Amino acid sequence: MVKAVVGANWGDEGKGKITDMLAREADIIVRFQGGANAGHTIVNDYGKFALHTLPSGCFYNHTTSIIGNGVALNIPVLFREIQEIVDRGVPMPKILVSDRAQMVMPYHILFDQYEEERLAGKSFGSTKSGIAPFYSDKYAKIGFQVSELFDEELLQEKVVRICETKNVLLEHLYHKPLLDPQELLDTLHQYREMVEPYVCDVSTYLWNAIRDGKNILLEGQLGTLKDPDHGIYPMVTSSSTLAAYGAIGAGIPPYEIQKVITVCKAYSSAVGAGTFVSEIFGDEADELRRRGGDGGEYGATTGRPRRMGWFDCVASKYGCRLQGATDVAFTVLDVLGYLDEIPVCVGYEIDGEVTTEFPVTSKLEKAKPVYKVLPGWREDIRGIRKYEDLPENCRRYVEFVEEQIGFPITMVSNGPGREDIIYR
Ligand code: GDP
Repeated sequence: MVKAVVGANWGDEGKGKITDMLAREADIIVRFQGGANAGHTIVNDYGKFALHTLPSGCFYNHTTSIIGNGVALNIPVLFREIQEIVDRGVPMPKILVSDRAQMVMPYHILFDQYEEERLAGKSFGSTKSGIAPFYSDKYAKIGFQVSELFDEELLQEKVVRICETKNVLLEHLYHKPLLDPQELLDTLHQYREMVEPYVCDVSTYLWNAIRDGKNILLEGQLGTLKDPDHGIYPMVTSSSTLAAYGAIGAGIPPYEIQKVITVCKAYSSAVGAGTFVSEIFGDEADELRRRGGDGGEYGATTGRPRRMGWFDCVASKYGCRLQGATDVAFTVLDVLGYLDEIPVCVGYEIDGEVTTEFPVTSKLEKAKPVYKVLPGWREDIRGIRKYEDLPENCRRYVEFVEEQIGFPITMVSNGPGREDIIYR
């Protein structure tokens, strides 16, 4: 059985926690897209961890963690993460890296920085981890696959060829120091040494695992609204964040993905630029940010304060639909316990008309939120394990959201820990 865990919103919905929890019953956890630009925060018996590349299931002895072909693989970051968790007492995870995964090159990170500098105020809010230049090169067919590290002749020729094109841009567009092919080749030799023990023909491995009845979790990064096709283009990420892409980024048949667990946070947050209709500001936002998540809503990778907002039914309904949600995991509900009243965005007013369908970016920019205000429950709900034991207004909030988004909320998360979960 293959399940995907993906985000319905702008990312940071708490996917890491849900994956970590579901990983208990999984044999294999696969990352299928994205790179070290976003992070998952996981709290478990070993402590609190911010992971960027390792799949969230790497804390269990019984699971195999896989970096799929769809990932932007930053080899030094992966190895630093392995080292960090092992240093903190976690048993060495079993890791496999797809021989078809492509590598983030040192110059991708440089180009990301240089391009942000060049665009200055008009930038896309990149985390500068090289992800956009990486995927551009992948689709321009000048990327480096892990498998290519093992063909020395090809590697040498390609390094020289790529440096030539990159150096034209470095010299004439960015006015920055040029790449030295020998230095790049040396770096790639180091990468080869680091990655060699883990390289695997992942699609064959997963095909056999599916045939053997293994439980496989596909772990998504970010959420629907950051998808390059269906999100708030151009303020999106560079690889698809949808469960459908899980089939491609892991190399499995699409019909094998039987459950799409779509994570939705009980309020909204976003990082980077882009229209955010239900955004709130000032003291109201500061308070929610401070109380949010587990120790505040600040980026796991960048430490940037996240933009805050009320729950957005329009965006979440769309987010769940594009994911093909079979189950919604509704997270961080405990955080809202301090509010007397909780506004929920139930529609967008665009040019005088109210809609509940999420629009294209040019229309989204004109959208004004239509709110319905629900009563709060003014209670700490952490530690509650049964849905019936939640305060009535809290259940009404969950049920209202469920009706608005039109997908079943089967899990409610009321704390950052593995056991803080209520099944419905
Ligand atoms: P991800 O990228 O989707 O995994 O999201 P984050 O890493 O940003 O996770 C959101 C934050 O919320 C993390 O600090 C989690 O530990 C925390 N978290 C997850 N679920 C809950 C929850 O139900 N309640 C609270 N209070 N925190 C949660």
